[in-house]
Amino acid sequence: MIIFKQTSQLRQHLGKLHAQGNTTGFVPTMGALHKGHLALISGAKEQTDLVICSIFVNPTQFNDPKDFEKYPNTLEQDILALESAGTDILFLPLVAEMYPEGLQNLERYDLGFLETVLEGQYRPGHFQGVCQVMQRLLTKVAPDKLFMGQKDYQQCMVVKRLLELMQSATELIPCPTIREADGLAMSSRNMRLPAGDRPKAVTIYQALSYIRERLKIGELKPLTDHARNLLSTEGFKVDYVAIADAGTLAPVFQWDGQTPLVALVAAFLGEVRLIDNMVLTTGLEKP
Ligand code: AMP
Repeated sequence: MIIFKQTSQLRQHLGKLHAQGNTTGFVPTMGALHKGHLALISGAKEQTDLVICSIFVNPTQFNDPKDFEKYPNTLEQDILALESAGTDILFLPLVAEMYPEGLQNLERYDLGFLETVLEGQYRPGHFQGVCQVMQRLLTKVAPDKLFMGQKDYQQCMVVKRLLELMQSATELIPCPTIREADGLAMSSRNMRLPAGDRPKAVTIYQALSYIRERLKIGELKPLTDHARNLLSTEGFKVDYVAIADAGTLAPVFQWDGQTPLVALVAAFLGEVRLIDNMVLTTGLEKP
């Protein structure tokens, strides 16, 4: 695996590889890697000739400065894991490399409705920051395919929108959420959970499973109310439990039996904010 910190060197190398006819798959991350990230690398290896991963903790997407400061850093382990997974290139830029013009007065992206609901509502500015870093990364790496996790369902939709705004030729490949044995979605933030809270964290998965198992035509509020209660009883501070149209994320309160649905949860366990989602209707897995 070759590690690049500078864009110019990365681009020179990628230019050569493209000229040789190689296709490229890109997996952007913020590090503290787990099996969810490595599944994206495997997906990319299956579908493209060369796999590029980036590790960059993007300051502009953290609406909570404490979350940014406490974001886990396990770089040495990450490098070993990426090497074992067969990653070809790791891009490891510094903030000044990604934001040479500084962090103020940045471009605004028209994300429309997507930015007003769920994560957009509870984390103001978050998706603008995601677009900032993704546009920069996509311009530098220019991959044929971009592999991202459905764990961040709304983020996949935002990046799809960004690719349209950029008129990019890159194809977004959403990949399934990888879970721990008990169902907890893998996340870099899980390592910040105190040991005593870890068993409780699975309640998010249980709440989503409850909704999926009991879904039927008609009123959906009893399902979201019950799921919310499950979480509150375990000590979570719930931001949202929502059922939405899987294609648009518009809220759905009354199901017609046809509309593809996704259930989404965001909740704090102590200081750690966890998110997860579950597609409720089959055959419609991709955001
Ligand atoms: P992050 O490092 O958390 O920004 O995540 C980098 C990429 O990994 C994003 O596309 C995430 O959606 C994806 N990802 C994070 N956790 C998981 C998971 N448990 N399963 C699949 N993909 C994941």
